[in-house]
Amino acid sequence: MEIIFATGNQDKMVEIRQILQGLKLNGEAVEIYSLKEKGIKANIIEDGTTFLENAVIKATQIAKLVPGALVMADDSGLEVDYINKEPGIYSARYMGEDTSYDIKNNNIIERLKGAEGEERSARYVCAIATVLPNGELISSVETMEGRIAKKQCGVNGFGFDPIFLVPPYEVTAAELTEEGKNAISHRGKALRATRKMLEEYYENSNK
Ligand code: IMP
Repeated sequence: MEIIFATGNQDKMVEIRQILQGLKLNGEAVEIYSLKEKGIKANIIEDGTTFLENAVIKATQIAKLVPGALVMADDSGLEVDYINKEPGIYSARYMGEDTSYDIKNNNIIERLKGAEGEERSARYVCAIATVLPNGELISSVETMEGRIAKKQCGVNGFGFDPIFLVPPYEVTAAELTEEGKNAISHRGKALRATRKMLEEYYENSNK
Protein backbone atom coordinates (compact mmCIF):
# COMPACT_ATOMS: atom_id res chain seq x y z
CA MET A 1 0.00 0.00 0.00
CA GLU A 2 1.46 3.36 -0.91
CA ILE A 3 0.69 7.05 -0.96
CA ILE A 4 2.24 9.36 -3.51
CA PHE A 5 2.65 12.77 -1.91
CA ALA A 6 2.72 15.52 -4.52
CA THR A 7 5.57 17.63 -3.18
CA GLY A 8 9.16 18.22 -4.09
CA ASN A 9 9.88 19.72 -0.67
CA GLN A 10 12.03 17.33 1.39
CA ASP A 11 11.47 19.34 4.61
CA LYS A 12 7.76 18.73 4.26
CA MET A 13 8.33 15.01 3.57
CA VAL A 14 10.12 14.67 6.92
CA GLU A 15 7.11 16.17 8.73
CA ILE A 16 4.59 14.17 6.65
CA ARG A 17 6.33 10.83 7.34
CA GLN A 18 6.50 11.60 11.05
CA ILE A 19 2.80 12.48 11.22
CA LEU A 20 1.56 9.55 9.13
CA GLN A 21 3.86 6.93 10.66
CA GLY A 22 2.15 3.67 11.56
CA LEU A 23 -0.73 4.30 9.15
CA LYS A 24 -2.36 1.07 8.01
CA LEU A 25 -5.03 0.80 5.31
CA ASN A 26 -6.70 -2.48 4.39
CA GLY A 27 -4.54 -3.96 7.16
CA GLU A 28 -1.36 -3.09 5.26
CA ALA A 29 1.38 -0.68 6.34
CA VAL A 30 1.46 2.41 4.13
CA GLU A 31 4.67 3.74 2.56
CA ILE A 32 4.80 7.40 1.55
CA TYR A 33 6.73 8.47 -1.54
CA SER A 34 7.45 11.92 -2.93
CA LEU A 35 7.12 12.64 -6.66
CA LYS A 36 10.90 12.58 -6.97
CA GLU A 37 11.15 9.20 -5.26
CA LYS A 38 8.57 7.85 -7.71
CA GLY A 39 10.36 9.44 -10.68
CA ILE A 40 7.25 11.45 -11.54
CA LYS A 41 7.94 14.72 -13.31
CA ALA A 42 5.08 17.17 -13.64
CA ASN A 43 4.87 20.83 -14.38
CA ILE A 44 1.82 21.82 -12.42
CA ILE A 45 0.51 25.36 -12.65
CA GLU A 46 -0.89 26.26 -9.25
CA ASP A 47 -3.33 28.90 -10.40
CA GLY A 48 -5.97 28.43 -7.72
CA THR A 49 -7.05 31.37 -5.57
CA THR A 50 -7.07 29.47 -2.25
CA PHE A 51 -4.83 26.93 -0.52
CA LEU A 52 -7.50 24.27 -1.03
CA GLU A 53 -7.91 24.97 -4.74
CA ASN A 54 -4.17 24.64 -5.23
CA ALA A 55 -3.97 21.39 -3.24
CA VAL A 56 -6.84 19.95 -5.34
CA ILE A 57 -5.13 21.04 -8.58
CA LYS A 58 -1.88 19.27 -7.56
CA ALA A 59 -3.55 16.07 -6.34
CA THR A 60 -5.90 15.69 -9.32
CA GLN A 61 -3.19 16.40 -11.91
CA ILE A 62 -0.82 13.82 -10.40
CA ALA A 63 -3.67 11.31 -10.04
CA LYS A 64 -4.22 11.59 -13.81
CA LEU A 65 -0.60 10.54 -14.38
CA VAL A 66 -0.86 7.49 -12.09
CA PRO A 67 -4.42 6.15 -12.39
CA GLY A 68 -5.49 3.97 -9.49
CA ALA A 69 -2.93 5.40 -7.07
CA LEU A 70 -3.66 7.05 -3.73
CA VAL A 71 -2.41 10.61 -4.25
CA MET A 72 -2.11 13.32 -1.64
CA ALA A 73 -1.07 16.95 -2.09
CA ASP A 74 -0.80 19.89 0.21
CA ASP A 75 -0.70 23.61 -0.21
CA SER A 76 0.36 25.71 2.69
CA GLY A 77 1.61 29.13 3.60
CA LEU A 78 1.82 32.01 6.02
CA GLU A 79 -0.78 34.75 6.38
CA VAL A 80 0.39 37.89 8.18
CA ASP A 81 -2.60 40.05 9.12
CA TYR A 82 -0.72 43.39 9.34
CA ILE A 83 0.34 43.13 5.68
CA ASN A 84 -3.04 42.07 4.27
CA LYS A 85 -2.47 38.36 4.78
CA GLU A 86 0.68 38.32 2.66
CA PRO A 87 2.47 36.18 1.55
CA GLY A 88 -0.54 33.78 1.64
CA ILE A 89 -0.80 31.40 -1.31
CA TYR A 90 2.38 32.96 -2.70
CA SER A 91 4.46 31.97 0.36
CA ALA A 92 6.83 29.65 -1.52
CA ARG A 93 7.51 32.37 -4.09
CA TYR A 94 7.72 35.37 -1.71
CA MET A 95 10.66 37.58 -2.84
CA GLY A 96 11.61 34.86 -5.35
CA GLU A 97 12.22 31.15 -4.81
CA ASP A 98 16.02 31.59 -4.78
CA THR A 99 16.01 34.21 -2.02
CA SER A 100 17.14 32.83 1.35
CA TYR A 101 14.65 32.59 4.21
CA ASP A 102 17.07 34.68 6.28
CA ILE A 103 16.40 37.57 3.88
CA LYS A 104 12.65 36.83 3.58
CA ASN A 105 12.21 36.61 7.34
CA ASN A 106 14.10 39.86 7.95
CA ASN A 107 11.97 41.53 5.29
CA ILE A 108 8.75 40.52 7.07
CA ILE A 109 10.14 41.73 10.41
CA GLU A 110 10.98 45.06 8.73
CA ARG A 111 7.47 45.38 7.21
CA LEU A 112 5.97 44.94 10.69
CA LYS A 113 8.05 47.70 12.27
CA GLY A 114 5.85 49.61 14.73
CA ALA A 115 3.29 46.78 15.06
CA GLU A 116 2.84 45.54 18.63
CA GLY A 117 1.12 42.61 20.35
CA GLU A 118 -2.00 41.41 18.56
CA GLU A 119 -1.15 43.57 15.54
CA ARG A 120 1.57 40.98 14.85
CA SER A 121 -0.94 38.13 14.48
CA ALA A 122 -0.33 35.56 11.77
CA ARG A 123 -1.24 32.00 10.92
CA TYR A 124 0.03 29.07 8.96
CA VAL A 125 -2.62 27.42 6.78
CA CYS A 126 -2.44 23.93 5.32
CA ALA A 127 -4.86 22.34 2.88
CA ILE A 128 -4.53 18.64 2.06
CA ALA A 129 -6.33 17.12 -0.91
CA THR A 130 -6.40 13.36 -1.44
CA VAL A 131 -7.53 11.50 -4.53
CA LEU A 132 -8.56 7.95 -3.67
CA PRO A 133 -7.86 5.05 -6.06
CA ASN A 134 -11.52 5.21 -7.25
CA GLY A 135 -11.14 8.91 -8.10
CA GLU A 136 -13.06 10.23 -5.07
CA LEU A 137 -11.64 13.35 -3.44
CA ILE A 138 -11.31 14.10 0.27
CA SER A 139 -9.86 17.26 1.76
CA SER A 140 -9.01 19.07 4.95
CA VAL A 141 -7.92 22.65 5.79
CA GLU A 142 -6.34 23.55 9.14
CA THR A 143 -4.50 26.50 10.67
CA MET A 144 -1.96 27.28 13.38
CA GLU A 145 -2.33 30.73 14.91
CA GLY A 146 0.74 32.68 16.02
CA ARG A 147 2.52 36.03 15.96
CA ILE A 148 5.49 37.42 14.05
CA ALA A 149 8.60 37.74 16.23
CA LYS A 150 10.76 40.87 16.31
CA LYS A 151 13.88 38.81 15.62
CA GLN A 152 14.65 35.39 14.19
CA CYS A 153 15.12 32.58 16.72
CA GLY A 154 15.77 28.85 16.43
CA VAL A 155 17.22 26.52 13.83
CA ASN A 156 14.64 23.73 13.58
CA GLY A 157 11.83 23.43 11.06
CA PHE A 158 12.03 25.42 7.83
CA GLY A 159 10.83 28.50 5.97
CA PHE A 160 9.24 31.14 8.17
CA ASP A 161 9.57 29.09 11.37
CA PRO A 162 12.32 31.32 12.92
CA ILE A 163 9.90 34.30 12.97
CA PHE A 164 6.68 32.42 13.80
CA LEU A 165 5.95 32.69 17.53
CA VAL A 166 3.64 29.97 18.82
CA PRO A 167 1.25 30.59 21.74
CA PRO A 168 2.00 31.72 24.47
CA TYR A 169 4.46 33.57 22.18
CA GLU A 170 7.70 32.81 24.02
CA VAL A 171 9.27 30.52 21.44
CA THR A 172 9.21 30.29 17.67
CA ALA A 173 8.27 27.22 15.62
CA ALA A 174 12.00 26.88 14.87
CA GLU A 175 12.67 26.36 18.58
CA LEU A 176 10.25 23.44 18.83
CA THR A 177 11.25 19.82 18.30
CA GLU A 178 9.87 18.10 15.21
CA GLU A 179 7.34 16.23 17.36
CA GLY A 180 6.46 19.41 19.28
CA LYS A 181 5.74 21.32 16.07
CA ASN A 182 3.81 18.47 14.45
CA ALA A 183 1.56 18.15 17.51
CA ILE A 184 0.22 21.69 17.04
CA SER A 185 0.97 22.61 13.43
CA HIS A 186 -1.38 23.35 10.55
CA ARG A 187 0.15 20.43 8.61
CA GLY A 188 -0.05 18.10 11.61
CA LYS A 189 -3.73 18.88 12.16
CA ALA A 190 -4.66 18.62 8.46
CA LEU A 191 -2.75 15.35 8.03
CA ARG A 192 -4.24 13.79 11.16
CA ALA A 193 -7.73 14.75 9.95
CA THR A 194 -6.94 13.21 6.54
CA ARG A 195 -5.51 10.10 8.20
CA LYS A 196 -8.74 9.66 10.17
CA MET A 197 -10.89 10.09 7.05
CA LEU A 198 -8.76 7.56 5.16
CA GLU A 199 -8.91 5.01 7.98
CA GLU A 200 -12.69 5.39 8.19
CA TYR A 201 -13.09 5.20 4.42
CA TYR A 202 -11.11 1.96 4.10
CA GLU A 203 -12.79 0.48 7.15
CA ASN A 204 -16.27 1.17 5.71
CA SER A 205 -15.37 0.01 2.20
CA ASN A 206 -14.34 -3.36 3.67
CA LYS A 207 -17.64 -3.89 5.49
P1 IMP B 1 3.85 25.09 -0.91
O1 IMP B 1 4.98 24.12 -1.08
O2 IMP B 1 3.34 25.68 -2.15
O3 IMP B 1 2.77 24.52 -0.03
O4 IMP B 1 4.48 26.33 -0.14
C1 IMP B 1 4.59 26.35 1.20
C2 IMP B 1 5.41 27.55 1.65
O5 IMP B 1 4.76 28.14 2.77
C3 IMP B 1 6.79 27.12 2.13
O6 IMP B 1 7.73 27.18 1.11
C4 IMP B 1 7.04 28.12 3.24
O7 IMP B 1 7.47 29.34 2.70
C5 IMP B 1 5.65 28.34 3.83
N1 IMP B 1 5.34 27.36 4.88
C6 IMP B 1 4.33 26.44 4.86
N2 IMP B 1 4.34 25.69 5.97
C7 IMP B 1 5.38 26.11 6.70
C8 IMP B 1 5.90 25.69 7.95
O8 IMP B 1 5.45 24.75 8.60
N3 IMP B 1 6.99 26.36 8.37
C9 IMP B 1 7.53 27.39 7.68
N4 IMP B 1 7.11 27.81 6.49
C10 IMP B 1 6.01 27.18 6.01
